[in-house]
Amino acid sequence: MRGSPTLCPVPGQFFVDERVLESIYTFLVTRPLTTSPAGQRILARLRALGPFLEGSLTVSTKRCGRPTCRCATEGPLHETALLTWKEDGTTRTLHVPIALREDVAAWVDEAKRLKQLSHEMSMAQRAFLIAQRRQRAR
Ligand SMILES: [Zn+2]
Repeated sequence: MRGSPTLCPVPGQFFVDERVLESIYTFLVTRPLTTSPAGQRILARLRALGPFLEGSLTVSTKRCGRPTCRCATEGPLHETALLTWKEDGTTRTLHVPIALREDVAAWVDEAKRLKQLSHEMSMAQRAFLIAQRRQRAR
């Protein structure tokens, strides 16, 4: 790099004034906490979540309707996987292909985890709020 060797002696490296670093540090250390250690642990678990999908996955069996198919007489029946969920008060369904069944099951499980963690986070924040109020009352 040409032009400003005193500001940027090594490409990609830059210098920050020590006073700036100190004020950033002071900001991070003295910043009021917005959650408790318990809340931070819940947040860490939330960050670790994978893709999620609200609803439930059900696997049912059915006859395909073709009179020549094995399922019409002896079986076995055909398995079909459905995702069901509520939307504006009505139950909606979506067919889930076999190739995606395990993935969708994992997404549904993850959505349950999200709901549980959301509940736990709310409890932690309420407890945090109560603790803050007590501290300020002193
Ligand atoms: Zn059939």
